Amino acid sequence: MSVVSRIGRALIDFVLPQDCILCGKETPHVLVCGNCLEYLPVVQPPLCRVCGRPTDDSRTCAYCADPSSIDHGRAWLCFVPPTNTLIHHFKYRKKTHLRTLFGRAMASIIQTDPLLKEADIVTPVPLHWFKRLRRGYNQSSLLARVVADNTGITVRNVLKRKRYTKSQTQLTDTIRRENVFGAFTIEENEVKNKRILLVDDVLTTGATMNECARILKQAGAAAVYSCVAAITP
Ligand SMILES: [Zn+2]
Ligand SMILES: [Zn+2]
Repeated sequence: MSVVSRIGRALIDFVLPQDCILCGKETPHVLVCGNCLEYLPVVQPPLCRVCGRPTDDSRTCAYCADPSSIDHGRAWLCFVPPTNTLIHHFKYRKKTHLRTLFGRAMASIIQTDPLLKEADIVTPVPLHWFKRLRRGYNQSSLLARVVADNTGITVRNVLKRKRYTKSQTQLTDTIRRENVFGAFTIEENEVKNKRILLVDDVLTTGATMNECARILKQAGAAAVYSCVAAITP
């Protein structure tokens, strides 16, 4: 799509009433109707104190039983239908306006969380430049910016992906950890003694987030927190 038609498309999306991407009914809201919004599967406590996944007894979940470099994390939605549809549109179908819906909800979680709200820097989980080029944007960067605008926490791109990694979707937990090990580098060394809040769209096993946190800690970060739009139950 050319730049002109992309801008045209963005304007149409913004100005005209559209169909809800979940139920297909016309809505004055941007992309998702009020009824579908009301029934989104919001994460409910008790939560894993490391990643924020719903658990039975507010201890760590199975994925965080191994020591994690994440100190504390939260998530807005459970990654079950229809969240997966929303994320798919956001990531692969250029529905970038969804950043406002996700980012504002994440910001309000952050502002009410005693640890997350104290973060010094918000930073997105980086996408490899090749994937970014192909997709046209990094969905995590879009979220980080909305989170920053709505919390007042400064956004900085302190991480860079130095290695192209296979999609994690089909991989087991152990393979995921191996797949992302050493995949990131610190781009701007502003992390020493800082509390860093990592932002991403989806957290599954936490392997990627954990690897980012590991190198941030190695570079002297005082604490690493995470906040995601959706988490697998
Ligand atoms: Zn709807
Ligand atoms: Zn967990």
